[in-house]
Amino acid sequence: MTLPAVALIPRTAPALGVGATAGPVPDAGHRHHALRENTDGKEGREAGHSAAFTGPGCPLPPSDELFDLATRADFHRWEAQLANTGNCASPIRLLGRINATDRATGQTRVMYDTDSEPGQVLLIGCGNRREHICPACSQVYKNDARQIIRSGLTGGKGMPETVTAHPCVFVTLTAPGFGPVHTTRTSRRGRQLPCRPRRDAHQRRCPHGRDISCPRTHRPDDPRLGQPLCPDCYDYAGHVLFNAFAPELWRRFTIYLPRQLARLLGITQKQLRQQVRVRFVKVAEYQVRGVVHYHAVVRLDGPGDDCQPPPAQYTATLLTQAIRQAAAVVSCETATLLTQAILRALPPSLRDTPPPPVIDPALRRILQFGTQIDTRVIRPTADGLPGTGKALSAQAVANYIAKYATKTISAPGLPDRPLRGPKAIDALTCAQHYKRLISTCWDLSKHPQTAQLALNRWTHMLGYRGHFLTKSRRYSVTFTQLRQARITHRRQQRHPDGEKDPWRRDLDERTVLLAASWRYAGTGYTTSGERQLALATAARAREHERIAREEIWTN
Ligand SMILES: [Zn+2]
Ligand SMILES: [Zn+2]
Ligand SMILES: [Zn+2]
Repeated sequence: MTLPAVALIPRTAPALGVGATAGPVPDAGHRHHALRENTDGKEGREAGHSAAFTGPGCPLPPSDELFDLATRADFHRWEAQLANTGNCASPIRLLGRINATDRATGQTRVMYDTDSEPGQVLLIGCGNRREHICPACSQVYKNDARQIIRSGLTGGKGMPETVTAHPCVFVTLTAPGFGPVHTTRTSRRGRQLPCRPRRDAHQRRCPHGRDISCPRTHRPDDPRLGQPLCPDCYDYAGHVLFNAFAPELWRRFTIYLPRQLARLLGITQKQLRQQVRVRFVKVAEYQVRGVVHYHAVVRLDGPGDDCQPPPAQYTATLLTQAIRQAAAVVSCETATLLTQAILRALPPSLRDTPPPPVIDPALRRILQFGTQIDTRVIRPTADGLPGTGKALSAQAVANYIAKYATKTISAPGLPDRPLRGPKAIDALTCAQHYKRLISTCWDLSKHPQTAQLALNRWTHMLGYRGHFLTKSRRYSVTFTQLRQARITHRRQQRHPDGEKDPWRRDLDERTVLLAASWRYAGTGYTTSGERQLALATAARAREHERIAREEIWTN
């Protein structure tokens, strides 16, 4: 792999814990691309990575291992590399060098070589977003997510502060029901209600003869929550198909929303586009029953890319109305989507005269969001909290959403990578309900009409194939911009007088040509002392950061 010369060298210890996945050299897009398998936790994570050192619960290293590490001649350099990875728990080890060629003379000199590094490798952050795999990298991601969400609500990071006054709504779009499950319910006044009380005896039996009533008031940690009252009544295929097509449902929602706005104002879509832009950021989250739902911030801006306020007739009330209407009408038919997927997979020569596939009735569903559409206006001075029914403050929303940005399914016994087959699924220790969802994903991947969805690769996600955070392009700052800002910042710290080339001149790419080559050498630390120190440093950094953040917010 060759890297662009811009990503060179700024090897500087970052401020404690403040974003340092952006390692010195192979950063940004390249790192992501090359290491996709690792960040998704799919494969290769353990490539060079001793199983004994995985997981925060690994045994404390013998103290002489730590002692050996601390007394190594290159310990300070190792420590600096650790800081550069953001104290990553399982960094990528790279071998390679960067050469500089003088464009005038053609002379080439080495600018950087991993030979000079501890262990002859360069460490870069794994970038994994899952907290239990890398607490440090997932924290960087979470902080970035929070910044992205917040700057779109309150300004900053290149966003005008006037954005605070734009009409802005926090919306939660849930999935519909797939069969009765144990649940918590609250009355309008906030009182806890029983799960499924059914006084009428014949309402209590399902066609399988099971009692589908439940008089209990479940506590929030009750393991029965989200589990179906009758698994045979439960629509597992519908549930998995909903997860699989939820991103499509959301996409359609974002198309319908401007249409509804135009309709409410009695104008055409073209006229609408001359007056406003609809921008959003959304996160996906699993409900305890294992179905995804979406939380989103939807904001109205004026036309153009500079995020100016929209005309006065565009109010938060109008936006709320349009959101509710769009969410209520949006739908997709699985038969159509599956047919399209089958046709797309055909070779081009066959695509023009396709025999129209008849989709199995057992796979036909009309997918829609659930009827419980929650909308809450976001105001700069509001004091509501999620769940209180009041208007929400921008700060509360940013925190609330960021919390979900790194969280996936936290149910015990669920794997963090795809399962390899029915045997592996059988061996799981999770709740029967999740097991059935996982088997359904597996079975659907073997059905000729749903094989295109490749749900065998998404068993561990219960069929959800989308991203956990998405946003419209101009909602606010991007992950890449935040990462680039970190690199620039560290580079400036490291080279207060500017970077030099191997001839001790100011580095100028018009004068020298930089060429880098890197080779993957493994993942993770090579000794348990190194790993333990990385985890401890990361935990300390997070604590510093948490305190700093609280101080900022409470002042
Ligand atoms: Zn990491
Ligand atoms: Zn119940
Ligand atoms: Zn039943």
